[in-house]
Amino acid sequence: MKDKITVGPLTASPGERVQGYYPVPGSDMRIPVTVINGDGDGKRVLVTSGVHGGEYPGIQASIELAGELTPRGMQGAVILVHPVNVTGFEAKNSACFPEDGKNLNRLFPGDPNGTLGERVAWCMTEDFHSQADFYIDLHAGNADEELTKLAFVPGACDPEVARASLAAAAYVDVPLAIRSGSINGACGSAAAVHGVPGILLERGGNGIWSRQEVDDNKADVKNLLRYLGVLPGQAEKYGDGPAYVTNALYLNAGETGCFIPFVRAGEDVKKGQLMAEIRDYFGRVLAAYYSEIDGRIFYMKSSLAIQGGHSMIAMGEVPNQ
Ligand SMILES: [Zn+2]
Repeated sequence: MKDKITVGPLTASPGERVQGYYPVPGSDMRIPVTVINGDGDGKRVLVTSGVHGGEYPGIQASIELAGELTPRGMQGAVILVHPVNVTGFEAKNSACFPEDGKNLNRLFPGDPNGTLGERVAWCMTEDFHSQADFYIDLHAGNADEELTKLAFVPGACDPEVARASLAAAAYVDVPLAIRSGSINGACGSAAAVHGVPGILLERGGNGIWSRQEVDDNKADVKNLLRYLGVLPGQAEKYGDGPAYVTNALYLNAGETGCFIPFVRAGEDVKKGQLMAEIRDYFGRVLAAYYSEIDGRIFYMKSSLAIQGGHSMIAMGEVPNQ
């Protein structure tokens, strides 16, 4: 006899789709959740979007998937959270919670008596990550972030969990993957705390979304669900999978001022190549940034304004580049 699935106040019997709000204790926050309990046995897959409220392609993809996926013929279950950071989404383009100014992906596993963000992290850890067999977390660049599409896979966890996550990365249509050492982000925490393999997808950015990005996210999620045996049909494998970035470098701005990039996210750069300058309001160069490696840019600030100490460029070496 197949089990019911309960997430907060929502309970889905086998063969049932239940939609509603998950109230975060001690706050007014109500998170939209869909539980689709298939009519057959199998893995439980958690799909979240909007961990950062301004990352739209994943949010819209998960909202559409919540309506389109059906329990009929499903082996196992899919739990969708769409989006996690509701108030950040409603505040527009926020990577943080407006209530406490905190970035959810620095707060895991959370605190039941903490600020709103810490409470949300705790709820995610206790009620969502704990009952997942696999975790798909949909991200994008925020309003001032340009990204090339890629996957992060958890690295700071049991080797078997890391291996299962890496294996799954061959079933998403992205060219690059990065092993994440983070354990206070949602995906890394789920892997480290509960041993749940997973994949974090980055697609789109600059606080906008397109039909194509939404459709591509949906195709990747459905393909992973086929790979995991939750949806019927043959999963498509993308060659040998993404190229694994090594020597990932995360560069912060050394000055506050105007950010003038000479390369874009997705571009390859040579060691010694001028990547960007920070200039003052009179056009004087305050700092210049040259690449220390032959590598590829996968993240770049896209706003003209930049703050010293904040993230500016992320890059790494790509095999056979
Ligand atoms: Zn994000």
